[in-house]
Amino acid sequence: MPLNVEIKDYSKKEFVKPKYFVWSPGKQIIRILDIDLIPVSCYWFGANIRAIGWDDPQSQQNKRIKLENPDNYRNVRGYKSPSDRYFVNVLDRTPVKMCPNCEMEVKAVNGTFPAICPHCNEGIVSKITAKPLNKVRVLQTGKTLVDQFKTIDAKILKEDGTRVGAENFDIILHVVGTGNQRVSVAEETENFEELEVPPEDLYDTSKMAILVSEAELEQLMRGVSLRDLFAARRGSETVEKPLKESNINAEEIQKKVDELFA
Ligand SMILES: [Zn+2]
Repeated sequence: MPLNVEIKDYSKKEFVKPKYFVWSPGKQIIRILDIDLIPVSCYWFGANIRAIGWDDPQSQQNKRIKLENPDNYRNVRGYKSPSDRYFVNVLDRTPVKMCPNCEMEVKAVNGTFPAICPHCNEGIVSKITAKPLNKVRVLQTGKTLVDQFKTIDAKILKEDGTRVGAENFDIILHVVGTGNQRVSVAEETENFEELEVPPEDLYDTSKMAILVSEAELEQLMRGVSLRDLFAARRGSETVEKPLKESNINAEEIQKKVDELFA
């Protein structure tokens, strides 16, 4: 019998790059596809970085800052509170126009479609007819919105008093604002249409948010940019200019980080 030796090739990509739900002000229509909505504790370093544990370097630094500045620790440089992020598979049913250039979905902004694709700034979409996207996307959100999903889930009942299940009807998201200023209100609909989404279309949401080592987290805390961190991982010599954060919103940064993984 030959030895059965399994060698893992870490240069091969095992991770399927997720397609994120495109938030756009106005009305969005989704169907929730996941039953288990599990929070991931993250620190924000221009993108969501998975907290490593209660004792990770950032958490230790937070404790130190809190001890020294009990009254205003939140405003002290270097303090970063972890926040619970949720990554939820949804079927995005919002009417969109597909960009002929970059093949990204173009959404209306408060009911009006742009003439040019905002993702590539090249594709002309003014003559294209809008159709429901009907594709799986990862909705990245926080506690406020998933709390609303929970309320809707408990509220909508069948005649016999049992729950219909928030995953069995369309939900409208009324989105106001963009980036950090974005607020979304979820509203149930009576579209109970049965949908068949193949399980292989779902993304592995357990792998969302960026996983770094303790040493890498310490580097981020010292101000090393994510871009430089990934460049170092690849052993790349060329370190590109850091991301300009000022006029880029959270999704755009996440998108750029995803591109780095590509
Ligand atoms: Zn485009």
